[in-house]
Amino acid sequence: EMSVEKHVFEADVAKLLHLMVHSVYSDKNVFLRELISNAADACEKLRYEAIVAPELLGSDPASRITLTLDEENARLIVEDNGIGMSRDELVESLGTIARSGTRAFMERIEAAQGKDGAQLIGQFGVGFYSAFMVADNVDVVSRRAGSDKAWHWASDGKGSYTLSAVDLADAPARGTRITLHLMEDAKTYTSRWTVERIVKDQSGHVPVPISIIEKPGAEPMQVADGTALWTKQKSDISKEDYTDFYRGVAGQYDEPALTVHFRAEGRHEYTALAFVPGAKPFDLFDPDRKGRMKLYVKRVFITDEAELLPRYLRFVRGLIDTADLPLNVSREMIQESPLLANIRKGLANRVLTSIEKLSESEPETFAKLWENFGSVIKEGIYEDFERRAQLLALSRFRSTASEDRPRALNNYVKDMKNGQSAIYYLTGDNLAQLQASPQLEGFRARGIEVLLLTDPVDSFWVTTAPDFEGKPLKSITQGAADLAGIAKQDSEAASSETSPAVAEFVSFAKATLGEAVSDVRASDRLTESAVCLVAPEHGPDRQLQKMLQGAGR
Ligand code: ADP
Ligand code: MG
Repeated sequence: EMSVEKHVFEADVAKLLHLMVHSVYSDKNVFLRELISNAADACEKLRYEAIVAPELLGSDPASRITLTLDEENARLIVEDNGIGMSRDELVESLGTIARSGTRAFMERIEAAQGKDGAQLIGQFGVGFYSAFMVADNVDVVSRRAGSDKAWHWASDGKGSYTLSAVDLADAPARGTRITLHLMEDAKTYTSRWTVERIVKDQSGHVPVPISIIEKPGAEPMQVADGTALWTKQKSDISKEDYTDFYRGVAGQYDEPALTVHFRAEGRHEYTALAFVPGAKPFDLFDPDRKGRMKLYVKRVFITDEAELLPRYLRFVRGLIDTADLPLNVSREMIQESPLLANIRKGLANRVLTSIEKLSESEPETFAKLWENFGSVIKEGIYEDFERRAQLLALSRFRSTASEDRPRALNNYVKDMKNGQSAIYYLTGDNLAQLQASPQLEGFRARGIEVLLLTDPVDSFWVTTAPDFEGKPLKSITQGAADLAGIAKQDSEAASSETSPAVAEFVSFAKATLGEAVSDVRASDRLTESAVCLVAPEHGPDRQLQKMLQGAGR
């Protein structure tokens, strides 16, 4: 090496690194994401410059990123053949924290501390410095495309760096080679298995192919092919491409029941690629009810904890990619971002309308989807007030008129009897038990359809007293069933008169049962059975009472 200059960073790096390591990134693996995304950016910048200066590409036009694992020397080398950095660019980009090396910047971070500090840092480019979370020394050797000079930047991340010219023979022909001297507890980053997994998880869809060289001198093995499927035109994507991609992103091996792929344009721009699985994912009823949609910024994976859909759509798998967020977006920013609020809304709408369309275009596929996920979607009826009507319309229910095939409420309403003003339902543990219920007798006799609700979630959403197309939903085990005005199918007139014998029996029963019941009355709801129990008009219905008792409440 020739003469070595010594420089001081333009901001208090030690402090900044400390803040960053302890507040911005909770997951160390992200350093690899940062370096790979810088490498990919460098390749994209070169592609852009080469539009007017094709000679920059020389005889090596294909972009690539390679990760060399050197277990023996505890090193990880990240190399790209992108644009590279000149001496001045190295000073400017890697010597200036966040390219705003002013005291004011540091003061703001210190003043903000904690949460806001993290948010502030997240908005600036500190990506490269995340290398110091795993390395105690970092060497950067870079040669800018078209230049006949190469430079070596080196630092321990503690306040200064060195810069020196290097022989072209010791530098990449074009681009940047970053060597991380791994700390004792970061040696796992020389394990092919670990690195390959992280790359596939975080960077599998950056637009540049990525290879791993298992040890110095070994052949490169490609681990990511450099195409981001969702950025392609729909017409260029086959069903098999979508299925392969779905399997990768969902970790499932079935066929998706539904694929939703769209680009939103306008005030907020993003691309969404989402799938409804063909089979139930194993974590569907996990108590934390977490979604698994991934958030990408400019094709770089950011997080799968952004909760991009409401909980009751947690079975949807896929991703959102947007260019409208900074790459270093923090958790706090994600939670508060108006852009993401907008995306959440737009995505939920698109998924729901796509499911609605599926119910018309492919009723069999929809029936299967409903069987798998209906009980989850129904959580939305009590959680998502704004979409309650839409979700009720989408829902399918078994009923006394359709015991095998669940049907939609609009069909129920269409078939309502003259004089019937409510949609009736009965909740219980299973269909056989419900079908045998004496409560149904009076409804059967009048040909009135009763929904038979057997999912545990049904007992909850019905308590929100929803109505559908202006018709209230009413439990047949609750309050008085005013069936008197509706004619029985096999007899002429409905008798609403109570005979003296019945009246006498009612007073006898009241006297005998005393405090055990709140009322005894003659009812139209029975035809064969002598008596049945009903719950009061207001208050939980019988099934919910049983469930709450069962839960020890
Ligand atoms: P950001 O990527 O947000 O700008 P980073 O700290 O990750 O912030 O990188 C700082 C700058 O260093 C980049 O903007 C880029 O100019 C330069 N840089 C980093 N890595 C590379 C690379 N592999 N090739 C070329 N330039 C790079
Ligand atoms: Mg970066």
